[in-house]
Amino acid sequence: MSIIKWVQRQRVRYTLKHHAIPFNSWKAVLRKAELLYNLSSVEKAHLRELATLFLRRKTITAAQGLKLTDEMVIIIAALAALPILKLGLHYYNGWVEVILYPDAFRVNHNNVDPNGLISDEVGILSGEAWLRGPLILSWRDVKNDLYSPSPGHNVVIHEFAHKLDMLNGSANGMPPLHRRMEIKQWAQALSSAYEILQRQVFHHSHTRINAYAATTPAEFFQW
Ligand SMILES: [Zn+2]
Repeated sequence: MSIIKWVQRQRVRYTLKHHAIPFNSWKAVLRKAELLYNLSSVEKAHLRELATLFLRRKTITAAQGLKLTDEMVIIIAALAALPILKLGLHYYNGWVEVILYPDAFRVNHNNVDPNGLISDEVGILSGEAWLRGPLILSWRDVKNDLYSPSPGHNVVIHEFAHKLDMLNGSANGMPPLHRRMEIKQWAQALSSAYEILQRQVFHHSHTRINAYAATTPAEFFQW
């Protein structure tokens, strides 16, 4: 093991030992987040570790007068850790800030722009992910997804999934693949499923996936 890796590993151990999310606060959040109910106890313990490390490496900033509580911070970290539970925190390298607005926020852009910005709900957004930049969330929408969950919809998971897609450039539905996975096979599988959804939406057929996923391959990727 290189000296750098050894130092990094020691740092992780120190953080988990001395700065772990307090157990009672963690349990309280788990009780509220239905999305996490089905994880095994081993997965929940690993999620707590990832959420702890997430909070050490990222900053969560409240905007527009929103008052940040410990519980809010833990909720964001726990949900952020879910997409990378089997991947690792390094999948969120390259950016540091989560900005939390009290409510949905107005913007002047839409969809994917040349800088790789992905926006959701044109005009008034519940979340937004910037390429190599911040991830922005509306706290009201985070809470709605937590307390009144609807299948397949969670703004925190959605925006963090955009971050995974952006790891190898702009969001386009082609994230970095695991070793031995074929780019061609991924592209074919994604485009044929995307085209089926687009046809269903065009014909107003019932879709199991939210129709918003038919807007771009990037949106389709994380529904
Ligand atoms: Zn999106």
